[in-house]
Amino acid sequence: MTDWSEIATQIAAASGEPFQPTSPRQVGGGCINAAAVLADGGRRWFVKLNDASRLDMFEAEHDGLAAMAATNSIRVPQPLCCGTSGRHAFIAMEYIALGGSGGATAERAGEALAAMHHSSADAHGWHRDNTIGSTPQPNHRDRDWAQFWCQRRLGFQLALAAQNGYGGRLQDRDARLLEHVDALLDHTPAPSLLHGDLWGGNFGGDDQGNPVIFDPACYYGDRETDIAMTELFGGFGSRFYAAYNAAWPLPPGYATRRMLYNLYHILNHLNLFGGGYGSQAERMMDRLLATVG
Ligand code: ADP
Repeated sequence: MTDWSEIATQIAAASGEPFQPTSPRQVGGGCINAAAVLADGGRRWFVKLNDASRLDMFEAEHDGLAAMAATNSIRVPQPLCCGTSGRHAFIAMEYIALGGSGGATAERAGEALAAMHHSSADAHGWHRDNTIGSTPQPNHRDRDWAQFWCQRRLGFQLALAAQNGYGGRLQDRDARLLEHVDALLDHTPAPSLLHGDLWGGNFGGDDQGNPVIFDPACYYGDRETDIAMTELFGGFGSRFYAAYNAAWPLPPGYATRRMLYNLYHILNHLNLFGGGYGSQAERMMDRLLATVG
């Protein structure tokens, strides 16, 4: 049983306002967590729940939402607090009535994402590790982007795939691919603040038509990784890409790097869900290896 009154008490303490919600309204659609809206007739909070052992996942989400909100470039739910209650960990954030991602929002999302990507740091990575889906995502800071991608992203997922028993199918390709990451990432991108998990399920529009992004796996890195992921599961529509490119054109070579960047997410899906993602990863690795000869 979830102790909603204890969570409400923690929300009241964090917000500095009394909060006595009626019964929570459960929200579906998430991939990882249970979610509910808590409302008392005045304030409404969106609350995600998981096992108490996952508190660090919510603390990292809190930091990511706060970092994106601080750029004032695109609407994200303002995080309020995280905590535990009994056997649950929770995060509470601003509730936003999400009405879908269509219409004018796509153009505004392209511009707004480009503006967020202008937010930079002196190195790639992040001040803490976080998660991608429910998989750990290590973020040790590194000024060398190719090295960061090789060690903290591709190399990490490939090692996890081997631990999960998929090594046999991938291992002859992975050493060769990791050797060629420098050649494939032949540019030196500025570290941009990234959403990190920007598929269509983490993008919507508020009731004013403003784009909203949520459920991030933030770090600083090549902005092309966010754009690549928007293209992985169906795309955000031509108006989104036109607006992004008008605001900040993508450099030449993106189309090849896109596959290397999306391989990370396909390997993560293999590690989370198994199935056909193994053959998809193999095909992507073969195509990438073909481009470096
Ligand atoms: P999970 O971490 O389980 O993937 P999400 O963060 O994606 O969960 O949230 C699940 C669903 O809840 C989303 O698809 C979205 O429709 C809705 N949602 C997410 N954040 C908010 C919010 N701040 N306010 C209102 N609805 C939200």
